[in-house]
Amino acid sequence: ITASTPTPSHPARLTVLAGPTAVGKGTVSADVRARYPQVWLSVSATTRAPRPGEVDGVHYLFVSDAEFDDMVAHGDMLEWAVVHGRNRYGTPRGPVEQRLAAGVPVLLEIDLQGARQVRDATTDAFFVFLAPPSWDEMVRRLVGRGTETPEEQERRLSTARVELAAESEFDRTIVNDEVHRATDELVAVMGLTPVTA
Ligand code: 5GP
Repeated sequence: ITASTPTPSHPARLTVLAGPTAVGKGTVSADVRARYPQVWLSVSATTRAPRPGEVDGVHYLFVSDAEFDDMVAHGDMLEWAVVHGRNRYGTPRGPVEQRLAAGVPVLLEIDLQGARQVRDATTDAFFVFLAPPSWDEMVRRLVGRGTETPEEQERRLSTARVELAAESEFDRTIVNDEVHRATDELVAVMGLTPVTA
């Protein structure tokens, strides 16, 4: 088995899903959570405020700056990054290692900086780049979801322009043309058999 094997056979592998902003990583992750309970989706810690409907401990661990500092200082983060020049996001290490040791496949939905850190820190993770069908479609989604101010949208699009160029660093690209289809492809790449149609 090499790093470029498209379908990993080990069921407890760590899979990293990254890609530009507004490509739908959050939507695909939510679909994995809803339809594929055999995958454990890592819960990131973040210093940003919850959006309406987000539940602490489910979508994120919402922590203070001091709490985030503590986690980093204690070596509790597998990776962490400042995303969009603003808030910090990180993957708590313990829960990921516990799941993998127990044979549970783990999915991380993180940004590109975080993906690079995981690549440097681990040897057997598999890296999936979620790509938009087109640039115009990506802009349409970001503006359409209406959760960011115009200034924040501009900031995220300039990040996305750079991030799109990183595709070649990844083991596999999945185009998010349709959420269920992209999710099914992701789960298949993780070596799992879809349990729902
Ligand atoms: P949002 O604020 O829209 O939930 O997420 C913003 C960005 O943070 C997304 O691109 C998402 O992939 C990234 N992100 C979420 N959790 C983590 C994490 O644990 N580590 C890193 N490096 N990025 C994360």
